[in-house]
Amino acid sequence: MDHVIGLKCVLCGAEYGPHEVDYVCPRHGDEGILDVVYDYQAIGRRVTPITLVDDPDPSLWRYRDLLPVDQGVLQRLLAADSPLARVGGTPLYRADRLAQHLCLKHLYVKDDGRNPTASFKDRASAIAVVKAVERGAQVVTTASSGNAAAALSGMAASIGLPTVIFVPHTAPPAKVAQLLIFGSTVILVEGTYDQAFDLTLEASREYGWYCRNTAYNPYTREGKKTAAFEICEQLGWQAPDRVFVSVGDGNIISGLHKGLKDLFHLGWIQQMPKLMGIQAAGSAVLVDAWSRPGEEFRFIERPETIADSISVGVPRDRIKALRAVRETGGEYIAVSDEEILDAMRVLAREAALFAEPAGAAGFAGLQKLVREGKIDPEERVVVVVTGNGLKDVASAIKATGEPYRVEPTLEALKKLISTISSPEATA
Ligand SMILES: *Cc1c(COP(=O)(O)O)cnc(C)c1O
Ligand SMILES: [Zn+2]
Repeated sequence: MDHVIGLKCVLCGAEYGPHEVDYVCPRHGDEGILDVVYDYQAIGRRVTPITLVDDPDPSLWRYRDLLPVDQGVLQRLLAADSPLARVGGTPLYRADRLAQHLCLKHLYVKDDGRNPTASFKDRASAIAVVKAVERGAQVVTTASSGNAAAALSGMAASIGLPTVIFVPHTAPPAKVAQLLIFGSTVILVEGTYDQAFDLTLEASREYGWYCRNTAYNPYTREGKKTAAFEICEQLGWQAPDRVFVSVGDGNIISGLHKGLKDLFHLGWIQQMPKLMGIQAAGSAVLVDAWSRPGEEFRFIERPETIADSISVGVPRDRIKALRAVRETGGEYIAVSDEEILDAMRVLAREAALFAEPAGAAGFAGLQKLVREGKIDPEERVVVVVTGNGLKDVASAIKATGEPYRVEPTLEALKKLISTISSPEATA
């Protein structure tokens, strides 16, 4: 890991060696989120956009030289009889019909619901299990609104590492089912995600479990940054003008920012896209903080939104998430649950992408900005879809309404068809 210089505290700037601390800045406790610092010259000597062309690995590990993992441990896990699940390499679609719908010219959609456990979180959990193996961990734990846990369970199952998972009791059944089927010890916490998060920190200290908690574990952001690498490589290293993404803890948006900064420092891209952070109106701590000067946050005790994956009252990667938007000249935007449900319908019908509510929230933000006339039709826009719609079918049916029902006779069908107003159905 000679390309990793160390870990730097986002609050005081103190730097630690890569093996000196596991999680947060010792001077700042749980608030002292750390950022991994790289030696870009060393990286640039080892890998370039040209050498990547010849790399047959389509997964996120094609960017292993820009990731803070021990290459020997990684190679061993990838070459094992039961190898680490392959994450990343998700498609970036050019969505022309969706673009026309919004009167835009260059719209791309990154479908991260296509990961092994069907969400963006697989990127972070893939790195986390490699770090757990590096550390010789016997058990890995995480708190999660559902997807981070499913991702950790899946990645850990692929290499036979036991997991203990803490999720709020309100998590959608499909996500809980994923945890159970992968064989995790699943603990439903009778409280919010934020409370589950704090309980997990205590449990990991009490029992010595390796902790993947988002942002508290400095490596989650590093996994998430690989989506920025993929987007830029898929666009031929012509960075887009804007990237829209949903925000809960703020770890995805800070990861995208980190990835883009890596590429900019390496000289692989020539411009930084504006990062557009989209939050649910009932869970909009970062929208509020962004609207005021400084880095002051008003936490929410009971966040409320249909988009459970971004229902967060205490965003753990808040400082980096706020800076990601400020430093790139982006915006934070709040969208209502109604706007999210509408975005789910439009994404599915105009681009065949079935997203869970949080997965569609980034697109809801784009629709809102377009409606307000705040986007130039010439801009090259990327929307990240962060989670698959099968994660939460109840919300999908809320977005669409129930299907028709009929007795199994032609007579009954004719009667029904005559009442259906849509022209396609009677054509
Ligand atoms: C976790 C998650 C998000 C938000 O990511 P943060 O890092 O918490 O901001 C968005 N969408 C989906 C589907 C998620 O699972
Ligand atoms: Zn510090």
